[in-house]
Amino acid sequence: KPAPSKTPLVWADGRQALCETLPYYRAYQSGGYCTDGLARAFMFDSNSHPRDYMDQNVVVSRAGGGKSKDETSGQMVMAGDQKQTTQVLDVLNNIAQCNPVVIIVGENNPTCPSQPPHAYCVMDWFKPTHVWFEKTKGHKMIRYRFEKLRPYENCWWVPSNWPEPIGLGDLEPPVSKQCNACSKDSLQVYINGWMCLQPTCLRFWKLADGSEPREEDLLYDPRFLTANTPWPHCSEPSPIRPELLTISTLPIQGQNLSFEAWKGFACPQCGRCNSREAWEGWECGSDGCGFTYRLEHTLVPATSLRDPYFPLGTGYAFSRDLIGKGSPVKLRVEFAHNYRINYFGIAGIDGFIAHLIANKTVNEEPNGPNDMFEDLQLNSIKLRRSPLPTAQLKGQSLTNHFVVNYGMPYKFIAGPQSHPFEHAARAIKTTRSRLNWAGRLVAPDMPHAFNEVLALGYFEDQTISYHDDGEFGLGPTIATLSLGCTAKMKVRMKANHYHGVSKGGNYDRAQPIAGCQNYEARKAAHDALMALKAADLAAYKAKLKALPKELGLTATGTARDALEMKLGHGDVVIMHGTGIQEYYEHRVEPMGKLRFALTCRYIDPDSLKPADRPAYAVLPDEEGYDGGLL
Ligand SMILES: [Zn+2]
Ligand SMILES: [Zn+2]
Repeated sequence: KPAPSKTPLVWADGRQALCETLPYYRAYQSGGYCTDGLARAFMFDSNSHPRDYMDQNVVVSRAGGGKSKDETSGQMVMAGDQKQTTQVLDVLNNIAQCNPVVIIVGENNPTCPSQPPHAYCVMDWFKPTHVWFEKTKGHKMIRYRFEKLRPYENCWWVPSNWPEPIGLGDLEPPVSKQCNACSKDSLQVYINGWMCLQPTCLRFWKLADGSEPREEDLLYDPRFLTANTPWPHCSEPSPIRPELLTISTLPIQGQNLSFEAWKGFACPQCGRCNSREAWEGWECGSDGCGFTYRLEHTLVPATSLRDPYFPLGTGYAFSRDLIGKGSPVKLRVEFAHNYRINYFGIAGIDGFIAHLIANKTVNEEPNGPNDMFEDLQLNSIKLRRSPLPTAQLKGQSLTNHFVVNYGMPYKFIAGPQSHPFEHAARAIKTTRSRLNWAGRLVAPDMPHAFNEVLALGYFEDQTISYHDDGEFGLGPTIATLSLGCTAKMKVRMKANHYHGVSKGGNYDRAQPIAGCQNYEARKAAHDALMALKAADLAAYKAKLKALPKELGLTATGTARDALEMKLGHGDVVIMHGTGIQEYYEHRVEPMGKLRFALTCRYIDPDSLKPADRPAYAVLPDEEGYDGGLL
């Protein structure tokens, strides 16, 4: 394919960067992005139809939906007639309201007249002009025609030697005829002859002699392709290259921490869409570009974290944790060192979750939570969103939250950069010392002092969905200090243990525990299964296969939350025991604009591959925090 004549104004190397940057295209999976009954943008990549068409002013494509994966070829094929999907109704809404859509072309698009220079390149604003039915391989299919909102301008995708086009409206208008059978009008799309395009009509997709056209013979009617569809306006609703986020020059708390502030940006120098990777600001990832952009941070003082309905005093704090209905979680409460300590035991699990709820005295301690929260805003701790290794999307994918590691490297999923403790911000060192003290307070049998701090930073709406914290080589105790806005932490049983069967239909061999579905029957079956395993391996294997059906196990739905904790500023959560991570998972939803979570673990250095071991010494905790002031 020839090279394009110009460079696109905005483009991306990866899907996440594209979707985080463009307000009009947030579709991570599908080729069309529609919201609230209106179409916003379409992406046309490899998944095209042979009759799709693209020139400088006009794009013709099939509508999205109605395809499924062919078992033998693995290709997406039409499994039946395409229906009037909501996407089609949305496009019709756009036509009625004169709303243009943006079209994006993927690098594997076969109909683009040139080779797009990047994985995803934004073409321009287009008017959707026609929606009609055709037939392909015996199935009904819906097609769209789009016309450039401002023809001839910035058609970067046209090669430089592209022949002079027939102008829009230069030919006669397309032929429109009324069908004898259904009395409805249809346009002539192909020069092979006029056909009724009403999908329910007897004469649908039939030429004058009553035969269906051979698909490989079909040729577009130039009068249809070059039709000029006037709209009362041809102005862009917004620039296709989004402008940089700007904020008030007044020092307003939180304006640089909003949901939109951790979205991506389109580089004003080179047009690349970039996710926001660094806590401090945006960086363009183009080779040799080097553009960076920052917003002024206004300190969020710890005093502003007050909840007007739950003011903190010097007495033990009010607990707002909730145990789910029918949950296997049992509560025991203790009060010590100004913390209210909620111990949550879980039936069948050796271990507990302790929630240490801070009061005013805890938070105001010198170098305590209030000071740490401000220290983390004034001193960079090098937080970055971390690359996800098993990306399902094209290009680089990043975690939602910003993260950094200190001490022994954390080498698990989305493991971030690691730094030594020596030069770390004061809050990092103080955290380790404070959590060592808290860990020994609630779990005196904790075998090792913590040698690692994983710091997470959250902007507005940076939820971390359900996951567990159990990894090979980690100690049984994980302690987290919360700083900043309150977050909800929800805990539930993992689906495979809850149902006793995987989505793929495999029996869950783990010991069933209280709170799971069909507990009594599964427990009895499990004991019998273990006896069989010792006695007769062949019979055991047969039983494994038969059990899901025998017990009537299904993998639909998820377990309800067994526990919901409200993690306030200064609170500590300690999860003790490996069983919790094995059977349960948790989710964190910040309820404000700025939050830090500082998690301490013990990472066994011998569990790290030689290449993963740190080049620096991981020094022991020398701060010696002892809770003496509490
Ligand atoms: Zn008809
Ligand atoms: Zn750039």
